Amino acid sequence: MDFIPSQFKIGILGAGQLGKMLAQEASKLDLNIHFLDKDKSFPAAKVCPNFTEGDFTNYADVLNFGRRMNVVSIEIEHVNTKALHQLQSEGIQVFPQAHLLDLIKDKGLQKLFYQEHQFPTAPFQLFQNKSALLEALSDSKINFPFVVKSRTGGYDGRGVVIIHSTADLELILNEPCLVEEMAPIDKELSVIAVRNQDGSCMIYPTVSMDFHPTANLVEFLICPATIPTEIEDNAKELAKRLVDKLGIVGLLAIEMFYLTDGTIWINEIAPRPHNSGHHTLDNGATSQFENHLRALCGLPLGETNYKEIAVMINILGEEPYIGQAIYHNLDQVLAIEGVHVHLYGKTETRPYRKMGHVTITGNDLESCLEKANFVKQYFKVIA
Ligand code: ADP
Repeated sequence: MDFIPSQFKIGILGAGQLGKMLAQEASKLDLNIHFLDKDKSFPAAKVCPNFTEGDFTNYADVLNFGRRMNVVSIEIEHVNTKALHQLQSEGIQVFPQAHLLDLIKDKGLQKLFYQEHQFPTAPFQLFQNKSALLEALSDSKINFPFVVKSRTGGYDGRGVVIIHSTADLELILNEPCLVEEMAPIDKELSVIAVRNQDGSCMIYPTVSMDFHPTANLVEFLICPATIPTEIEDNAKELAKRLVDKLGIVGLLAIEMFYLTDGTIWINEIAPRPHNSGHHTLDNGATSQFENHLRALCGLPLGETNYKEIAVMINILGEEPYIGQAIYHNLDQVLAIEGVHVHLYGKTETRPYRKMGHVTITGNDLESCLEKANFVKQYFKVIA
């Protein structure tokens, strides 16, 4: 296959940190990547000159941007899919395909898909509004405790509430939602799969998201997950069956619950680079970003097995600081062997804003975790 990178334009809707890392990896293969987002303060603009200012939720903006591209993809799901359908009908490639984005953007449709195709997931019910939900509760069709999720617009835990008792009912928003049974979770897992245009597929080893025993907010991503081999095989098999059933092109991150009885449920999916795959930049595999780009171009997918263990920590804005970001103790963190720091280039910090991530790689999990704890304790974003 002959390939001229400059003549194949890749358009990405959204220019946040995922876009920035896509652009950084695109430059390795000299790929011709372009971004659409509000303004050039967004992270990807720092590393990519091909930037169109516009709104990726706006029909005309997405259409005009996409018409100049050979392939259009996303780094955020909440984009104008009507324009993506139109682009597809005009012969422009859109990956993930527009109908899959429609399916994935709506958590209710996602759950119906799992049910229809017998993928294991938490039992659920759909409701049009809060009063329909409350009626089902008073008819004992729902029992405490339960989880309520907004069907659309949720992100990073927003739009998800756990209802333990009547006192929590005020937390429920009046909008279309789904109610799930509480999952008896042992570990939260994530599997990232990438599928090419010819149907070939590669799957990264499963990672686990472990929470600090006392502070629920402190999270480490451990790669590979410390789970029995048969669970690892099971998770990968589920991922493979799911990407094939969807027929998706590009990355699919599959968040799963590993339950206390040893079974696995699919929680939700994201058809793009994912936070749980950032370690692939540093542990010897082909990065998730490069593999996504390879799939967009129809180039062969790269190796997904890691050469090293990795622990990843999100670096969030420290409370209560708002203002120009100061990276406190960056020097100390950079001095540690196996520590890889990624700063997203957001000039302003706010409490809990994702400002960067740190991946610690090595051959021994204990020592990686020790270093991760040090980073977590001393590396702070203040203002
Ligand atoms: P988001 O799309 O905002 O990331 P998720 O569906 O992933 O929302 O839910 C966020 C978190 O809420 C999960 O990572 C998990 O910790 C918890 N959660 C979600 N669904 C359930 C459930 N059915 N049972 C128990 N915990 C849940």
